[in-house]
Amino acid sequence: MASHPSFLEQVDRMFAKAAALTDHPEGLLRQISLCNGMYKMEFPLVRDDGSIQVIEAWRAEHSHHKLPTKGGIRFAMAVNEDEVAALATLMTYKCAIVNVPFGGAKGGIKIDRKDFSEAEIERITRRYTFELFNKKFIGPGVDVPAPDYGSGPKEMAWIVDTYRSLSDDPLTAQACVTGKPIAQGGVRGRTEATGRGVYFGIRECVSIEEDMQRRGLTTGIEGKRVVVQGLGNVGYHAAKYMSEGGAVLVGLAEYEGAIHNPAGLDLEAVVAHRKATGSILNFPGATNIANSAEALELDCDILIPAALEGVITKENAPRIKAKIVGEAANGPVTADADAILLEKGVLIIPDVFLNAGGVTVSYFEWLKNLSHVRFGRMSKRFEQASNERIVKALAASMNVEIPPAEMMRLTAGADEVDLVNSGLEETMATAYQEIRAIALGKQTDLRTAAFINAIDKVAVSYTEMGIFP
Ligand code: NAD
Repeated sequence: MASHPSFLEQVDRMFAKAAALTDHPEGLLRQISLCNGMYKMEFPLVRDDGSIQVIEAWRAEHSHHKLPTKGGIRFAMAVNEDEVAALATLMTYKCAIVNVPFGGAKGGIKIDRKDFSEAEIERITRRYTFELFNKKFIGPGVDVPAPDYGSGPKEMAWIVDTYRSLSDDPLTAQACVTGKPIAQGGVRGRTEATGRGVYFGIRECVSIEEDMQRRGLTTGIEGKRVVVQGLGNVGYHAAKYMSEGGAVLVGLAEYEGAIHNPAGLDLEAVVAHRKATGSILNFPGATNIANSAEALELDCDILIPAALEGVITKENAPRIKAKIVGEAANGPVTADADAILLEKGVLIIPDVFLNAGGVTVSYFEWLKNLSHVRFGRMSKRFEQASNERIVKALAASMNVEIPPAEMMRLTAGADEVDLVNSGLEETMATAYQEIRAIALGKQTDLRTAAFINAIDKVAVSYTEMGIFP
């Protein structure tokens, strides 16, 4: 094997380590691990100045054991076929781990967003959707994209609009993509879902006393010293919920540099400072770290890499001081680094579990689009009335008066965002306990346990199809 294995080779190494601890037949394991479909496209973009640029893009559908397939679209210069396939592979395992009934997919458009105007990005996104449509690589029951690095709700709105104009099924068209703005059929809580899921996953992990004791830590988020790399969608929201949960943000890293303050950094003030000055650096009271990657080596309890893959390698892994690494990004720890960190006793909460909040809430959005009803719409008032009857009966029996504001708080029925967040919390907590139980049973690490969990679930699908005995 090459000295620097590719991202896909890294994922396959992790798969092989887990597969060896299962007793599935070789052919089934091979079917589970290989990418089922890959569409590479090249299309022309007419730039604002009238010149023509050829855009390279991909869509990988890793596993058709369940349909639709699901996965984000990445807009970045580093995108290539290997990366798209690796990310699609992780999506299959991720969906299985959190019991979301989708196969894995991923898209990538090889551009640096900063080099293109908004109108050009729109033309690229719409043309990409058109290409996917032509090759049947998009559709509510086929393949459903979502945001990833470099894309967000706006791009998803262009995708649904383009798809709708091409599709002959207006009833389901809205479910062709998730992560949309609310007015376009999005679900409340989707934008922050991945970061919130990262928080729920870490909170579950640090709630287990024996696991914390082994690393010299107390239970709970409160007071944990945290470093976050990447303040985009995932990193910002993970940092926000960690800090609201009582963690101390001692380091924050962006591509232009990082800042450090052992006494804690105020996230919103840092974001405002970056917006005003164009850089995270020179934040009042913090120390600058010119080489952003060095922030990963800061003394902390929990390190959350939330930017891109391959940032913790065999070179810097020996210098990582965190006791817990929460993989918010996909693939931030290489396979070699994984072994080094495990040897040091670091608790790695793997990406295939930890950043699954996005796809979980995407699943809720897809359900909402297919059912054409907002979650909570039919039950909210009913719940409120039932709660009111109970609270009033209790208050009467205890002879107490409940002030109107308190009554409203106690009796409120669940709205869409409450149900989405509660479904996400349940999903992350249950999945963590599931993979931890496998890790204990097989005497292995959490990543290997998560992969075993996924392999077993995908294997059941194939076996039930009658393809494998
Ligand atoms: P994003 O584009 O919103 O944010 C990424 C941030 O990382 C940007 O602010 C960027 O400036 C910063 N960054 C880039 N290189 C950096 C570096 N070397 N050091 C520090 N910061 C750097 O992307 P995102 O959606 O937050 O995705 C981040 C990661 O999370 C990716 O690995 C993605 O695949 C994964 N992920 C995203 C979602 C989702 O719902 N968006 C879901 C699951 C996984």
